[in-house]
Amino acid sequence: MTAYVLPPPVPAAVPVEGESGLFPVRRILCVGRNYAAHRREMGGDDRDPPFFFAKPADAVVPPGAPVPYPSATEDLHYEMELVVALKGGGRGVSPEAALDLVYGYAAGVDLTRRDLQAAAKAKGHPWDAAKGFDASAPISAIRPWAGPPPQGRISLSVNGDVRQQASISDMIWNVPEIIAEASKLWALAPGDLIFTGTPEGVGAVRPGDRVEGEIEGVGRLAFTVAS
Ligand code: MN
Repeated sequence: MTAYVLPPPVPAAVPVEGESGLFPVRRILCVGRNYAAHRREMGGDDRDPPFFFAKPADAVVPPGAPVPYPSATEDLHYEMELVVALKGGGRGVSPEAALDLVYGYAAGVDLTRRDLQAAAKAKGHPWDAAKGFDASAPISAIRPWAGPPPQGRISLSVNGDVRQQASISDMIWNVPEIIAEASKLWALAPGDLIFTGTPEGVGAVRPGDRVEGEIEGVGRLAFTVAS
């Protein structure tokens, strides 16, 4: 048995619908600009393809855990997203084989320090502090899934006002394409989560705001931003 000089960290984990066991999170990949209308609202060019960034695994916030307002920002934004949970992996996965790697789907929010992201973009700096901060990935329970990916409505409201409303089928890269593209860049593995990008309508939240998101057929999540 391997000895460590410190206690090894407990894996971040997400509950699974209908199972007592948890889904252990290995890493979190995220797709940027995967809906055309959101790409435009962020000032992107219509020809820019989607791209990837990452969050640490322990950024995940399972249902019911607190979502604190983070330090070092005055502009915390929500981004409602379909999340793919992988049970398999590999490199160079074809789109035709990609769905065999899927364990299930969840509803997630890619929380973003938009002011730090804007500063990073302006200077050509990395996005880690804007995207990969503590508790930046609230998520619903994972729904196990076989067959074609979800295609339904994705929506988010703040204090009961609908802010984002679109269809998963509006994504530029669909789920098999996202998995195939990611596997060109990384060896995917069981436990990986992929946030698949957000539709238009992103905006700011403040402490005390109630955020509720739903993806048709997949699930819903709700949290109040703590101070
Ligand atoms: Mn996002």
